[in-house]
Amino acid sequence: AITPDELTFGSGFAALPPAFYTRLMPTPLPAPYFVASSSRAAALVGIDPQALEQEDFVAVFTGNRVPDGAQPLAAVYSGHQFGVWAGQLGDGRAILLGDLDGPAGRMELQLKGAGKTPYSRMGDGRAVLRSSIREFLCSEAMAALGIPTTRALVITGSNQRVMRETIETASVVTRMAPSFVRFGSFEHWHSRDREEELRVLADYVIDTFYPDLRSAANPYKELLAEVTRRTARMIAGWQSVGFMHGVMNTDNMSILGLTLDYGPFGFMEAFDVNHICNHTDQGGRYSYANQVAVGHWNCYALGNALLPLIDSVDAAQEALDVYMPEFERKLDELLHAKLGLATVEEGDRALIDGLFTIMQASHVDFTLLFRRLGDLQREVPGADTATIDAPLRDLFIDRAAFDEWAVRYRARLVREAASDEARRTAMNGVNPKYVLRNYLAQQVIEQAHNGDYSGVRELLAVLEQPFDEHPAHEAWAALPPDWAAHLEVSCSS
Ligand code: AMP
Ligand code: MG
Ligand code: MG
Repeated sequence: AITPDELTFGSGFAALPPAFYTRLMPTPLPAPYFVASSSRAAALVGIDPQALEQEDFVAVFTGNRVPDGAQPLAAVYSGHQFGVWAGQLGDGRAILLGDLDGPAGRMELQLKGAGKTPYSRMGDGRAVLRSSIREFLCSEAMAALGIPTTRALVITGSNQRVMRETIETASVVTRMAPSFVRFGSFEHWHSRDREEELRVLADYVIDTFYPDLRSAANPYKELLAEVTRRTARMIAGWQSVGFMHGVMNTDNMSILGLTLDYGPFGFMEAFDVNHICNHTDQGGRYSYANQVAVGHWNCYALGNALLPLIDSVDAAQEALDVYMPEFERKLDELLHAKLGLATVEEGDRALIDGLFTIMQASHVDFTLLFRRLGDLQREVPGADTATIDAPLRDLFIDRAAFDEWAVRYRARLVREAASDEARRTAMNGVNPKYVLRNYLAQQVIEQAHNGDYSGVRELLAVLEQPFDEHPAHEAWAALPPDWAAHLEVSCSS
């Protein structure tokens, strides 16, 4: 079996000047143990998933042993939190080991929860098992849904106590992404009037991740435009599955357009366009509906930071203006697929809006609705639609409103070429049966707190194939049980 020292760590980010980070060692945890790993994430960096359970790998991915060639560091960044300038933040509990070359290209490996850094402020540098499990499962679930995201390789735990609202235990989740550079990484240098560092960082990002932009007349403007487009597409993806990030601060916005930093996220259950998933977000700045505008606002913060390099307000404005058209285009494409519409007609927008209106009025479960929509038959001559539509129709309190909408939908489907069967197959390939509902995460977290990690691993296996049927786990596709009505997630992690 291979050892961690046989991994060849590159130092892409560590090759930047020292101003961008602090080199430091992770702080060991007592008696670390393996909790769970993602074989798909492991494949991305060419690590045998079995090896992750070995003691030497557990030591490395807890931060207890630094492998040969790794140059651990914590990066500095700043950011806007809840719309307010927060000044310097930085990796307060995440430590970058370096990057590995894999079949899918270069991936940085970062230990989240590996101890204090110069950027920890009042924090303890730790992550608790609960939050590591949530980040691990959701990273891999989002990847399986086809939404751009950072990945999660492995979770380890230790019985070391960590104080949150209650006493919990420490855990480290190893995240992976080609880069963890954030909008806030640029805001940091702009806020300090350090144009030199700003340019070095932008050049690093362009040369490493956007090499095609190098030949553009104004590469920094094109960088802003491309990041804005990616952000818009990422958020269209979120809206299409009912994902709410919960803390869309600019320090949690990836320069690669990846969903980054899973904290108090949630998946929409009973549909409410104004739903707020983060209990700490009292004003609802990051509600489901507001995510779209906040994504744009965050791109403005990035644009403002890049302005000294772009050198023209008009050019920056032009780059930012791509946001809404790109978002609308992507969301429209995703929603057409969700409704099984292969063609585009003028009335489609009204049909789709009509669906969201009745979902809102009846607070219909988002995931169940779209999944069951695939079962609708286009033509039912002489049959009683109330009976054949029952599983779908019964999701609505206002059945008459559903019936009215279904007449319009059926009339539209008649103009589609696909058979009911073909459309159903296509729709089931884009409308997940399984998402990481809060209650599911809570169930496996409670098991894990009792030392049983089998639930985490089984749930991962289902979330890796969210569009498939998993007869043994039919219950995980169900509406949340009554006890889950009081579940709250906050920034505490
Ligand atoms: P977040 O809201 O998770 O994006 O975190 C915002 C900032 O707080 C980042 O700089 C984090 O590194 C830092 N932070 C969060 N939790 C901790 C912790 N337990 N210890 C140290 N820093 C933390
Ligand atoms: Mg963060
Ligand atoms: Mg966080």
